Amino acid sequence: MKTLVVEDSRTNLKVVCHYLERMGITPIPAENGTKAIDLFISERPDMVLLDIILPDIDGFEVARSLRQLEQPGDWTPILFLTSMTKDEDLEKGIAAGGDDYIHKPVSDVVLGAKIRAMQRIIQMRYSLLVLTRKLDTANQELKRLTSLDGLTGIANRRHFDETLGREWRRSMRQGAEFSILMCDVDLFKAYNDTLGHQAGDECLRQVAQSLAEAMDRGGDLVARYGGEEFAVILPETSLAGGMIVAERMRQAVEALNIDHPTSANGKVTISIGLASGIAMPETDPAKLVKTADRALYHAKHEGRNRIHAITSSDSNEE
Ligand code: GH3
Ligand code: MG
Ligand code: MG
Ligand code: MG
Repeated sequence: MKTLVVEDSRTNLKVVCHYLERMGITPIPAENGTKAIDLFISERPDMVLLDIILPDIDGFEVARSLRQLEQPGDWTPILFLTSMTKDEDLEKGIAAGGDDYIHKPVSDVVLGAKIRAMQRIIQMRYSLLVLTRKLDTANQELKRLTSLDGLTGIANRRHFDETLGREWRRSMRQGAEFSILMCDVDLFKAYNDTLGHQAGDECLRQVAQSLAEAMDRGGDLVARYGGEEFAVILPETSLAGGMIVAERMRQAVEALNIDHPTSANGKVTISIGLASGIAMPETDPAKLVKTADRALYHAKHEGRNRIHAITSSDSNEE
C-alpha cells in the first residue's frame, strides 16, 4: 500500500513517513501542492495525507484537484493533517473532497487507527465493486437468455417483437424499406404424428439452424415465432432483396434432406410469406407481420415449398 504524504514541514513529514513505514505502508513524500498533484498522477497512491497550509496551493485546492483527477467510480481516501481546530475548517475540508482529519502533532496511534478505518472502507468498496461487476455480467447473461428460444437457441418471439419495433421506428426516420419473412414448416403435423414429437423437435432445431446460416447481414434477425413458424426481419431490404434471401432459406431447408413421410418431394420443406414496406406514421408494425402471414397463406395454397410476396402497397389495396 502506498500513501502520498503532503507536508511542507520537513520534521512533520519525516515523522509521519516514519510512522507509515512502521505500519508497513510505503510513504510518497511531497513538500508542496504542485508536487503532490504530480505524484498523485504518476504514483497512483492508495491514500493521501494532506497538510492544509502549504507554500503554493492550499490543501483544500489540492484535494479538489485530486478529486478531479480521479476516474469516474474511483476513490482515494484523503485525510487532512491540520492544526486548525475550527468547525468551519473541518466543513471546508470535507466539502473540498476530504474524508477525515488528523490533528497535528500527529499521534501514531490515531494515525494507525484512522488508516485502518480507511482500509476497511477501501476493502468494502472493492468487494462491492466486484459484486457489482458480477451482477452486471449475470444481468447481461440473463438478458441474452430471455431473448432466446429454449428449443432452437435462436431468437424468440419477444426478441423479434422488440427488433421489429426498433426497425419500424428506424424505417420511419430514414424512410428505409424493410422486409419480413414468415416461414412455416410444411405438413409438420404429419411429420410429428409419424415420427414422434422428439424427432419433430430435432427437425425444428435443424431448420432453425439452416435459416440462421442462410442470412448474410449482421442486422438480419431470424426468430422462432411459435410452434413450427419462424419469422425473419431484413432491415434495409426491398421486396426483390427479400425474395433472394427467402429463396436461399427455402433451398437451405430442402438441402437438409430430412425425410418426410407425406410431403410432395418426400423431404421436409418450408413455405414462406414475404412482405416489404416502409413504416408510416399512424401504422403498426404488426400490420406488416399480418401481411407476411397472408402471403404465407397464399404460398401454402399454391402448393407449399414456395414463396409468395406481397408489397405493402398491394396490401393497402386489399
Ligand atoms: P401446413 O403445411 O399447412 O403448415 O401443415 P402443418 O401440419 O405444418 O400445420 P399444422 O398447423 O396443422 O401443424 C403444425 C404442427 O406443428 C402441430 C404440432 O404437432 C407441430 N408443432 C408445433 N410446435 C412444435 C414443437 O415445438 N415441437 C414439435 N415436435 N412439434 C411442434
Ligand atoms: Mg503546512
Ligand atoms: Mg403453422
Ligand atoms: Mg406448418
